[in-house]
Amino acid sequence: EEPPPATAVPQAGNPGLTLLARVGVVDPESLDDYRTHGGYRALRRAFDLGPAAVIREVTDSGLVGRGGAAFPTGRKWQATASQPDHPHYLVCNADESEPGTFKDRVIMEGDPYSLVEAMTIAGYATGAHHGYLYLRGEYPRALARMEHALTQARARGLLGPDVLGQGYAFDIEIRRGAGAYICGEETALFNSIEGYRGEPRSKPPFPVEKGLFGKPTVENNVETLVNVLPILTGGAQAYAAVGTEASTGPKLYCVSGSVERPGVYEFPFGVTLGDVLREAGVRDGLRAVLLGGAAGGFVRADELDIPLTFEGTRAAGATVGSGVVMAFDSTVPLPRLLLRIAEFFRDESCGQCVPCRVGTVRQEEALRRLGEGRGAAAAVDDIALLREVGRAMRDASICGLGQTAWNAVESAIDRLGAYE
Ligand code: NAD
Ligand code: SF4
Repeated sequence: EEPPPATAVPQAGNPGLTLLARVGVVDPESLDDYRTHGGYRALRRAFDLGPAAVIREVTDSGLVGRGGAAFPTGRKWQATASQPDHPHYLVCNADESEPGTFKDRVIMEGDPYSLVEAMTIAGYATGAHHGYLYLRGEYPRALARMEHALTQARARGLLGPDVLGQGYAFDIEIRRGAGAYICGEETALFNSIEGYRGEPRSKPPFPVEKGLFGKPTVENNVETLVNVLPILTGGAQAYAAVGTEASTGPKLYCVSGSVERPGVYEFPFGVTLGDVLREAGVRDGLRAVLLGGAAGGFVRADELDIPLTFEGTRAAGATVGSGVVMAFDSTVPLPRLLLRIAEFFRDESCGQCVPCRVGTVRQEEALRRLGEGRGAAAAVDDIALLREVGRAMRDASICGLGQTAWNAVESAIDRLGAYE
C-alpha cells in the first residue's frame, strides 16, 4: 500500500534551509523547475574544477557520512579515486531502514534531481561511470520520482555517454530492496545487487578497495551526497563555517513520537536536542528520547541540553546516528517498547554469525521474561544475562546490526531505569 507522502516541516525558527530548500517548493517532476532553483550549478562547477579539486573541496568541507557512521566523505572518495583497479562503482545507499528514519525519502520524493546531480558529481570525482541507486522497496513514490528524474536527465544529456558535453560518461541504475534491514549494510547491499543472499562481508577489505563486483566502490547515503551540492556551489569554507569544528554543515533530523509536528527538520550541527524538540512542538509529560534509532540509545527528558553534534552526543553517551529523534511520554510502556526493538533485531539478523543469530534471540527472551515481572531476584539475573549477551554481540558480531542490537536496551536499563 502506498504510504502517505513524506513532508519536510516548515520551520519558523530556522528559515535558512540548505538541504530542504527545494522540498515542497519545486515541482519534483520538472527538471526545468529544478534548474530554475539552482539545479546543475554544482555539476558545472565540478567540471570546471576537475575530479581532484572536487575531492579536495569535499575533504576541506569536513563532510562526514550521514547514514549513521560519520566516516569522512572526502577520504572515502580519495581512497576510491586512487585505486588502480577498474571499473570503479558508485553506490547510493537509499535503503533507509533504521526505525524512525525517513529523511532520505523526503529528499527523493521532494527533490529527486538533487540526488541525480549529486551522484553524477560523486561518480565524476571518483572515476565511476556506473552508479547504482539501491532504493528501499517500501518507497514506491520515491521510486517513481527517481525513475522519472533519471529518464528526464538522460533525455536532456545530463546522464549518458557525454554528460553536459564534457566527455564524461555516467548513468544510474535503480535496484530495489526487498524489505531486509540488513541489505542497508553496505556489503550485504553489494551482495544483493550481485544476486546473492544479503549477508555482510567481513571488512577489511573496505569497499573503497574491493566493493561491488570486487571492484573499488564508493558507497554513500542519500543525505551525504546531496550535501555535496552546497559544498560546490558555496565553497568548502562557507560550508565548514556552519556547525562546529568537528561536525560541519547542516543535518536532517527525523522527529517522531510524542510531538505535535512530526517530520523532517533541518538544523545546523550544534543545536541542542531541546531546540529540535521545541521546533516540533514537544508534548507534556516527556519521559525519554530515542536518538539514532534502534541502533542508537535513549536519553532522559532532563538531558535535552545535549548538543546535537557527533562530539557532543558521544560525550553524553548518545549518538546522532541517522538523525532519529523519537520522543516518548510517560504513557508509553517501556518494557513493551524494548521488547519490540529486540523483536526487530531478532527478525532482521541475517543469521550468518553466532553472536548475533543466537544473541538477538536470547535478548528477546530475557526481555520477555522481564516484562512478565517475575520478581526482583529473577530480574537481576535477567539483566545480568542481557549484559553478558550484549557484550558478546557487540564484541564478536560481524557487522553493525549485531554490534548495536543491545545499545538501546542497555541505555534504557542504565539511563531510564527501565526495570526498576
Ligand atoms: P562503519 O563504521 O563500519 O563504516 C562506515 C563507512 O566508512 C563505510 O562505508 C565503510 O566502508 C567506511 N570505512 C570505515 N573504515 C574505513 C577505512 N579504513 N577505509 C575506507 N573506508 C572505511 O559503519 P557501518 O557498519 O557501515 O554503518 C553503521 C551505521 O549505520 C550505524 O551508525 C547505524 O546507525 C547506521 N544505520 C543506518 C541506517 C539507515 O537507515 N540510515 C540503517 C541501519 C544502520
Ligand atoms: Fe548477520 Fe547479525 Fe552477523 Fe550482521 S551481525 S552478519 S546481521 S548475523
